[in-house]
Amino acid sequence: MTSARVIRVRGVVQGVGFRPFVFRLAQEKRLAGWVLNDDEGVEIYLEGADAAIEEFVRSLHSDRPAAASIASIEVRATEPEGLDTFAIRDSRHQGHPSVRISPDLPACQACIDEMHETGGQRYRYPYINCTDCGPRYSVILSLPYDRANTTMRGWEMDGYCASQYSDPADRRFHAQPVACRVCGPHYRLTAGEKIVTGDEAAIGRAAELLNAGAIVAVKGLGGYHLACDARNESAVESLRARKYRKEKPFALMPRNIALARELADLSPEAEVLLTSSARPIVLAPAKIRFPGISPDNDDLGVMLPYAPLHHLLFDAGAPEVLVMTSANRSSEPISYRDEDALEQLAGIADAFLIGERPIARRVEDSIARAGTFGPVILRRSRGYAPAAVAQIPVAQPILATGADLKNTIALVVNGQAFASQHIGDLDQYQAFESFRETIEDLVSMYEVRLADLVVAHDAHPEYRSTRLALELGGAATHAFQHHRAHIASVLAERGAWDKRVLGVSFDGTGYGDDGTIWGGEIFAGYMAEGLERVAHLRRASLPGGDAAARYPVQAAAGFLSQIDNLPDLDFPERYRAALELICKGVRTFTTTSVGRLFDSAAAVLGFTREVTFEGQAAMWVEHIARAAENADPYPFPFADGELDFRPLLGALAVDRWRGRDRGECARAFQRGVAQGLCDAAAQLCERFGLDTVVLSGGVFQNELLLEDLKSILGPKRLDIWTNTVVPPNDGGISLGQAALAAFR
Ligand code: ZN
Ligand code: FE
Repeated sequence: MTSARVIRVRGVVQGVGFRPFVFRLAQEKRLAGWVLNDDEGVEIYLEGADAAIEEFVRSLHSDRPAAASIASIEVRATEPEGLDTFAIRDSRHQGHPSVRISPDLPACQACIDEMHETGGQRYRYPYINCTDCGPRYSVILSLPYDRANTTMRGWEMDGYCASQYSDPADRRFHAQPVACRVCGPHYRLTAGEKIVTGDEAAIGRAAELLNAGAIVAVKGLGGYHLACDARNESAVESLRARKYRKEKPFALMPRNIALARELADLSPEAEVLLTSSARPIVLAPAKIRFPGISPDNDDLGVMLPYAPLHHLLFDAGAPEVLVMTSANRSSEPISYRDEDALEQLAGIADAFLIGERPIARRVEDSIARAGTFGPVILRRSRGYAPAAVAQIPVAQPILATGADLKNTIALVVNGQAFASQHIGDLDQYQAFESFRETIEDLVSMYEVRLADLVVAHDAHPEYRSTRLALELGGAATHAFQHHRAHIASVLAERGAWDKRVLGVSFDGTGYGDDGTIWGGEIFAGYMAEGLERVAHLRRASLPGGDAAARYPVQAAAGFLSQIDNLPDLDFPERYRAALELICKGVRTFTTTSVGRLFDSAAAVLGFTREVTFEGQAAMWVEHIARAAENADPYPFPFADGELDFRPLLGALAVDRWRGRDRGECARAFQRGVAQGLCDAAAQLCERFGLDTVVLSGGVFQNELLLEDLKSILGPKRLDIWTNTVVPPNDGGISLGQAALAAFR
């Protein structure tokens, strides 16, 4: 008895070998019909025996291609048409595409093996790829995902590639970026006037230069890296000097996982992240310390080779552990266009390993860690973007423009929330440009009209992301408070729309309802009703505004000025100047920022110079605290909706003045913050009848704080929710804004 079904598959199902997989499966089950790609994903029509169709649907899920991820499968019965073969039909393109664009994928084992087959047409070919692996988001110019809409459109397939591309039984069936030595793009190496052409020669020369201590700019998937030998101290030192990157840690790329295990203490969870298809930089405790790689930091950032080129570089004899850092000057965004790279990196790189395939958009390496409460994505970019991060039940399209630091944007179409790659600090001209381009990019890819969009932005009137949001001309524009957006990002990840929670946002800086600088906020409520601020850190002065975030002693002046009987700590002149600003009420702001509280503690503990990257002082406190055994917490009392930092910082100052071990002081401070927060959370949960505490904001990147919170709060039978999909830092703000807009 023949019956027929129409099957709708949603998720990441395009550009990942899904149609050939369906084709083979249908043949195996002796089913007739067709499969095609459309704007919503994949549609399958099947005719045949009921039992065979049922088996087909089961296998669809269980045997799906490695790179595919299925969000839903809908099956409905229909009338048989009387077909007798199975075919792959042309793509159909009608309304708003809501198919998810696949993130970039690391080279698969089949391709790596093929790259090592002497005599093959892809022997040592750096652009080898197949439907299981290779570039996606970084080469897509527009949808649908077909070769003509990718940066591979300039290369015509030869007979060899074309026959594989059109053979449903081949693993390169409809692999859009397919290429080989004969028909595809190549690498070349330029060093001054000298140009080395030919993939093997160019890669071989790059490996030699790296061994000789040179700094080589290497074009990868989503941008250029600056590479050098991680064990060569003088190469690392000159990279820091030339890049104006004084202390921020460099990521390392060891040749393989065995070497990665020698470098860092990798938990099973960390290895899962390290080898996941996103291939992020994974932060893990360092086992080996190379000079200059990650100063004053317990962790090392490690990532495995992911582009075929990386494998070839190591094959060619490059140093077995490379520094692989984003190619840019200081904190600018990563270079990805060849002309820009040559110009911006002149004077930094000794040589350039340039690949011909253009990069459609900048996609930096992602950063992740196996944290106390599960995986934490600290920078969500290559390998993750632009996959959906949440399902938000809303019909209208929403665009959220995020925050100005660590910017990302989010777009909600047909209830799917897509988050962009990491864009960066919008004060940087190039980052702001790419912020605008990314908005245009996503809006046009998903064919949303600006006039139909609900636009969500931060409440800060001076943010660039706010000003652009107001200029976009959407159907409506709404501002959302920064820390509510942090909390909403966690609720959105979980789809917890009706759950009443206590939301704790400990953070650096965010514009508050009252116009002061918030960053130590506790809310109660849920998405539909809103999040009411029920408690906060005691208010402190912040002399000098933005500069206070760069100079811990300046923040310290603001916080310590409220403390009586303070011992005489030896601060630099800037401290006294800041006190003067407070006295005169000049350029002095009010803050409840826990980020600045950590800065103040850092200053008391001896970090009195300028920070050279965001969050450095707080990371330093965590670092020295880790060196100490557990210490009793300093008091951080909670009363009348206020966490009082005076006893906390006062005790710290006295202990430092008495000469107590610095690490112990830092440990007691960290423990104090955790204990104070737990006391506040327990009281507030009881008062409001809540059982779940949501934590989000930059301060919760402090893993030691999370460990302490877990050990204290765990026994109190309160659930703790943290971010696991988007970053707890400002990279997660756009998702939170989008969710708040949906439930407004
Ligand atoms: Zn492959
Ligand atoms: Fe924030």
